[in-house]
Amino acid sequence: MNGAAQLGLVDGTAGAPLDEDRPRPAPDAVVELRDVVREYGEPPTTALAGVSLTVRRGEMLAVVGPSGSGKSTMLNVLGTLDRPTSGTVLIDGVDVDCCSDDQLSALRAHRIGFVFQQFHLTEGRTAIDNVADGLLYSGTPLHERRRRAEEALERVGLGHRLRHRPHQMSGGERQRVAIARAVVHRPPLLLADEPTGNLDTRSGEGVVELLHELHRDGTSIVVITHDNELALRLPRRVMIRDGRLAGDSDTTTRPVVVQASAGGAS
Ligand code: ADP
Repeated sequence: MNGAAQLGLVDGTAGAPLDEDRPRPAPDAVVELRDVVREYGEPPTTALAGVSLTVRRGEMLAVVGPSGSGKSTMLNVLGTLDRPTSGTVLIDGVDVDCCSDDQLSALRAHRIGFVFQQFHLTEGRTAIDNVADGLLYSGTPLHERRRRAEEALERVGLGHRLRHRPHQMSGGERQRVAIARAVVHRPPLLLADEPTGNLDTRSGEGVVELLHELHRDGTSIVVITHDNELALRLPRRVMIRDGRLAGDSDTTTRPVVVQASAGGAS
């Protein structure tokens, strides 16, 4: 029931039409999607039906939409965990279509951090080791990995939990460890998939505040959420429906929108 207008979004049907064949160059983009389509299976299910989106350096935005609208698929494509069926994905201007899987892993290891609803920490390993693992693919020696992990845990307010294991921590603390792991290599882009989805209100509040702090420090952040309350606290909101961008609160760039799908927003 929370439609585009309620989220302060510009409905594409009211905005200027986008010439998707000629995306504007975006020199300050940390990631760009250009007319991205992602289909699964045969006969194909279309999860993304031609999405164009530019995330600029230092931006913080929410991607909102109901279940099944394509949010996770979009996050996977933005994070190069998945390749599109067609269209272009540029990370810092690099076309990922030209990268081998190994090159993509290296690109992720340096430029992208991930946070998931389920934390995905390794049980039985201490907070410091979980975070140090975030540097495994960077070629950093073990003692340096641990030093930087400690620094990252202090940054998220967990300097007093270095030797705790996941089962000894609250949900909010576990998510902070996961965030420390995601940013330990200081990536310019952080992608968070429903980061407060498994947390009580108070812990969720703390995690959102932490994301804002990371943003203030210069990290570009994309938060995938179905929680409009959370989305409203972020500077930019993009709505996705039926695999299409249906609105964007960024009125200065109007990068997206194709059409609100039948029975869609509002
Ligand atoms: P959301 O994250 O908004 O819930 P998803 O990106 O998970 O949406 O899914 C979008 C659409 O793509 C849904 O119809 C879903 O069923 C379909 N889909 C997602 N992943 C797969 C997959 N691996 N195989 C087949 N269909 C999929």
